[in-house]
Amino acid sequence: MRKNLFCGLLLFLICRVEAGEFVLVDQHRPCAVLVLPGEKYRAVLDDFNATLKTVCGTPLKIVEKAGRTERQIRFEIRPDADPRTEDAFSIEFPEEKTMVVKCSETSMVWALNHLLERFAGVRWLFPEKCGLSYLPLSKIALPVGKISEAPSFNIGRFIERSNSAFYPKAYFKPPIELNHALTDYVFPLKKYRETGFPPEIMPVLKGAKIKEPPNRTTPRGYWQPCYSNPAAVRIAVENILEYLKEHPEKTSISLSVNDCGGFCECRNCEHANGGRKYSQSEVYYKWVNAVAEAVASRVPKLILTANAYVQTAEPPSFKLHPNVIVNRTIDLYSCTDPATMRKHKETISEWSRKAAALGVWDYSWGHGYMMPRVYFRIQAEMLQFLHSKNVRVYFGENECFDCRDGGKTYLYSKLLWNIRSDPEEILAEWYERCAGKSAAPLLRKYYERWEEIFSSPEMRRTPWFESVGSTYMNWGKISHIYALRPGDLEELRGWIEDACRLAGNAQEKERLEWLRLHFNYMEALLKMYGAEFIPPEGVLSSSGQALALLNSFSKLPEYVTRKKKFAEQLKKEPVMGFYYRSPMYSKRMKLDEDVSTPILSQFETTLDFLDSPEVAAAVAKIAEDRAFPPSVRDIADALARSGSYKNIFPEGDMEQAFEKSNFRLIPEHRRTGSGILSSDFHFSGKKSFKIIPDEYSLVRLELPADPDSRYVAAFRTFVPEDPGRATLQYGAFPALNSHNQDWYILPRKKLSAGVWQKWTLFVRTNPKSNGINFYLFFRDFAPGKAVYVDDMRVVKAGKQAELSPR
Ligand SMILES: [Zn+2]
Repeated sequence: MRKNLFCGLLLFLICRVEAGEFVLVDQHRPCAVLVLPGEKYRAVLDDFNATLKTVCGTPLKIVEKAGRTERQIRFEIRPDADPRTEDAFSIEFPEEKTMVVKCSETSMVWALNHLLERFAGVRWLFPEKCGLSYLPLSKIALPVGKISEAPSFNIGRFIERSNSAFYPKAYFKPPIELNHALTDYVFPLKKYRETGFPPEIMPVLKGAKIKEPPNRTTPRGYWQPCYSNPAAVRIAVENILEYLKEHPEKTSISLSVNDCGGFCECRNCEHANGGRKYSQSEVYYKWVNAVAEAVASRVPKLILTANAYVQTAEPPSFKLHPNVIVNRTIDLYSCTDPATMRKHKETISEWSRKAAALGVWDYSWGHGYMMPRVYFRIQAEMLQFLHSKNVRVYFGENECFDCRDGGKTYLYSKLLWNIRSDPEEILAEWYERCAGKSAAPLLRKYYERWEEIFSSPEMRRTPWFESVGSTYMNWGKISHIYALRPGDLEELRGWIEDACRLAGNAQEKERLEWLRLHFNYMEALLKMYGAEFIPPEGVLSSSGQALALLNSFSKLPEYVTRKKKFAEQLKKEPVMGFYYRSPMYSKRMKLDEDVSTPILSQFETTLDFLDSPEVAAAVAKIAEDRAFPPSVRDIADALARSGSYKNIFPEGDMEQAFEKSNFRLIPEHRRTGSGILSSDFHFSGKKSFKIIPDEYSLVRLELPADPDSRYVAAFRTFVPEDPGRATLQYGAFPALNSHNQDWYILPRKKLSAGVWQKWTLFVRTNPKSNGINFYLFFRDFAPGKAVYVDDMRVVKAGKQAELSPR
């Protein structure tokens, strides 16, 4: 008691307290104590103290019990019980010397973050070590008065993935259940693996009722329960309640469909679905409602989620149970396209009339793209719209985020907490906090240039942008970099270099050094992939261009050295380095990628010009040049001396009827006179394969192939008359049992009349492949007009595949 009295007196002497003020720290000395609400909260208080000490040189003392006269911060913590309300907190002052934080287990951190941000000037700009922004302070105080806070997106705010210590700084909390999880606890695989699934719930697929999941290696996909069967409701409810008994802490359960389709074709399901063929929303959401109703009578607050995804993407004709949150997948970036934005807004509006609350699963990928994919204005506009339509769950699929994409994550986190805040002010604060007052406008310019590039007309012309209408943009594929015009990188370098020069204090300088390092790394990588040289469409326009590109390979060693140096520096970052050294980040950021990958990616764009003697000679030279990796030389050799390799698709000469061949025109596109061998025209022999594509025809070829190998393929096409706006897209992908293992959007090639055009490609199989799938898409032909294919050759690259050794 005496000691406490003494302490109180000492605090009183040091702390200059003004009327109506609660002082935490004065003259770098603590003026209040933190009353530990329980041992399990010590780590949270330690974390708060660590930041406080950084800012003002002292932590606050943590005590089990405070003296009556001590200035103290107490906590009243309610258990987390409902994701809808657990984020709210208030800070109150029952008397001048006592601050009470009323919070949940979850929102205790939000309250402490709030104190640090609002009254100690702290900002967490990004996960890296230098992401913490502050000014040293000697005094930290706040006015005595009630503070109440609750987030706008109250049920879910999360972007995966980064350093986990950063999530609380961004007010992210672990997401509610959103994934495909039917086989986890609704119809648990674990339970039925031994006994078999109840026969009543198994679907009719391709005309026959199945007994077990159709795909042995993926038992969680390719089938759905027979949703119209009352047993599918009863058994689901029993299993969910049983699961909750063992996991009473669970606040949400996902009812999302199994992945990859497999909807029941029985008469009852067909009837319950109102005869609709593709969309299964009627039958599925009826089941969801029935399960929700039964579960809610026992566990009234449990949240049930469903994904509006592929066959269940359309809203049903009826309203959903109020406990059901429907989650919609969307790539907010795709809303840079006005028509796509309109479409998304319409669907979300329609859903908001059917469900009490909605969620959004955003493919907000940063890395996975080779440049900062930023779209701040669209981000803000869409988040505001989504909130106005009762979206209360936001989940960003990103897999890797750090400082490279500037204020993107910061803007998300601030708007998710308070959708009424001004996006422009949030970004202005980010730039100023990051770089300091003088450098902020330059840093802003740097990111605004990236934003412009990502919404430029050039970007819209890239093959990547064709995915704008898909469930998500085609992340991980490179053609987005072809939107860069010559000089873009130099301009961007100017902005980031100038910002570096003008950065103010040590914190700001350090942050800009990391941003510049990311730029340096990106620039070297982008150049290795032919950015600024290859046109947006990914198609070169002349043999001269192809030759110039092949000659530019002489500059590669310089970029390779630079890239390697910057990659090693990135891996040393104290927080993110750990992740950069991991296989996932390394793959996404291409940190340790073999140099043959970018070379072959560029090489591929020159293949349309192999008929040019100069280009052919340059390719033959690469085959002999030991400066290139062996895999590149193997490909070059297979291209240059194709005739001396064995054709593994001998029927490609198009002379004899395909009896057992896997080369075929897709059945839906078989019009009279199309998909046949014809003697109208030929390149060699007497015949060729004739197609009358009309608007769209697809020709497919499946060939067996060895794992981890490279193949080169070539074929020729002929159109007798002016093809107008007709195009050809072709490509090949590694496959396992005929299923593609990879996919990306192929460039569109223009066709010329009266010549046998040669098209060439190569493909690499992966360690698990046993085949290759080839695709030839013919689009936008005038009705009835034909195209002919001849001389298709597929050879395996590599010395052992040659017919005779050199
Ligand atoms: Zn059925």
